[in-house]
Amino acid sequence: MPSDLNSPRPIVVLGAGIIGLTTAIRLLETPLYQEKHHPVHIIADHLPDDPLDPRYASTIAGAHHLSFADDGDERQRRWDRRTFKVMYDEWAREGESTGLMRIKQTELFVGHRQHLHIYEEHPDFQVMDPSQLPEGVDHAVKFTSLTMTPAIYLNRLLRRIHELSYGQVTIHRYHLPSLSHITDPSIQTMLGTSLTPLAIFVCVGSGAIDLGGVEDKSVYPTRGQIVKIRAPWVKEGMTRQVGQLNGGEGGERTYIIPRSSGEVVLGGTREVDDWETQPRDETTRNILRRVLEVCPNLLSSSADSTLTSDNKGSEQSSTEVAVKGREEKSRLESLIVDVLVGFRPSRQGGVRVERGHDLIFEEADHEGTKVVYNYGHGGAGWQSCWGTAEDAISIL
Ligand SMILES: Cc1cc2nc3c(=O)[nH]c(=O)nc-3n(C[C@H](O)[C@H](O)[C@H](O)COP(=O)(O)OP(=O)(O)OC[C@H]3O[C@@H](n4cnc5c(N)ncnc54)[C@H](O)[C@@H]3O)c2cc1C
Repeated sequence: MPSDLNSPRPIVVLGAGIIGLTTAIRLLETPLYQEKHHPVHIIADHLPDDPLDPRYASTIAGAHHLSFADDGDERQRRWDRRTFKVMYDEWAREGESTGLMRIKQTELFVGHRQHLHIYEEHPDFQVMDPSQLPEGVDHAVKFTSLTMTPAIYLNRLLRRIHELSYGQVTIHRYHLPSLSHITDPSIQTMLGTSLTPLAIFVCVGSGAIDLGGVEDKSVYPTRGQIVKIRAPWVKEGMTRQVGQLNGGEGGERTYIIPRSSGEVVLGGTREVDDWETQPRDETTRNILRRVLEVCPNLLSSSADSTLTSDNKGSEQSSTEVAVKGREEKSRLESLIVDVLVGFRPSRQGGVRVERGHDLIFEEADHEGTKVVYNYGHGGAGWQSCWGTAEDAISIL
């Protein structure tokens, strides 16, 4: 019999992206942790300060809060709404040091005249007057939203984990090949106990495709390429959606996401099942062309990204327009800081937040290990993280 049988069993959070870290925080706030002091361990291949890697989606993301939740998808709406509230309160309390930035957001729609109803819940929501719409745009709305600087926010979560646990949460860099591997002697040494975990929270993003015991074949990458520029004068967000969203992956989406750091993320692409890790030059050119169409004033340091009469076309000759276009593009290129690729962890059927079968280990002297899944957030992990973390903890 192991000598530590009466000690509280460890709890493991697998994954240190936005989903794993928010899940760990909500776990540390539960009476289960606060009263019984189960040792909590975070195990992950990638950690927030690592060099950027397309497979670690959280560090590549735009990221803004711009829900994709269909009007009838109450579960996703609830997660997105809850996350907006948590983050908005954080921003209101502590400002941009959080990595969050409050912005005015404009959503332009081409090919249809409807917006998602959830936008109406944002502060300052308004439908734009049709007479103000840029050429080719069929409908537009404005509201207040948030953007996130991933490295700052993820590190803030790590600090919060440290504070809540009085430094007792241990973070291990380790690739877990399968869930059952959790009883391997090397892991027991790593966790410092021969007790099998009470629970594992599986927050592995696209790692769910390969992780033994999960091997979720409904998970697939939706590749995104983005261009990061330095343009601290841009203070407003803008998105153009061509065609229907279809729950988040449909149509063509062009976006401008200013961050509190002065960087601006320009995007994007949604390439289903595409594992190409290197940026494609033609895609970069395409993104730059599209963002200038959406926001001709992007380069003007005296202007914000608000729509102006420029968008409606002025009385210039076609030669003047072409020359101006080339100049704008080369100025935009000179502001590029980085071109990045990331794989959104998409999943047919949407996010998986549910309890799985317990892991039963014959050699263990106690009940099995509970498994709680929290992965498959596609392009919406940042904007739904607190909502899904709270659901994952509530079903333990
Ligand atoms: C270009 C782009 C733009 C985006 N823009 C937005 C946006 O504006 N708003 C928004 O809400 N979302 C956006 N997203 C989506 C968002 O980034 C993801 O939904 C979110 O990051 C998923 O978080 P995650 O923690 O589940 O996965 P990840 O961040 O990928 O983290 C997975 C973690 O699991 C670990 N892991 C995996 N397998 C194993 C294993 N076997 N053993 C140990 N560790 C393992 C990894 O090392 C990592 O720590 C964007 C994504 C991209 C790529």
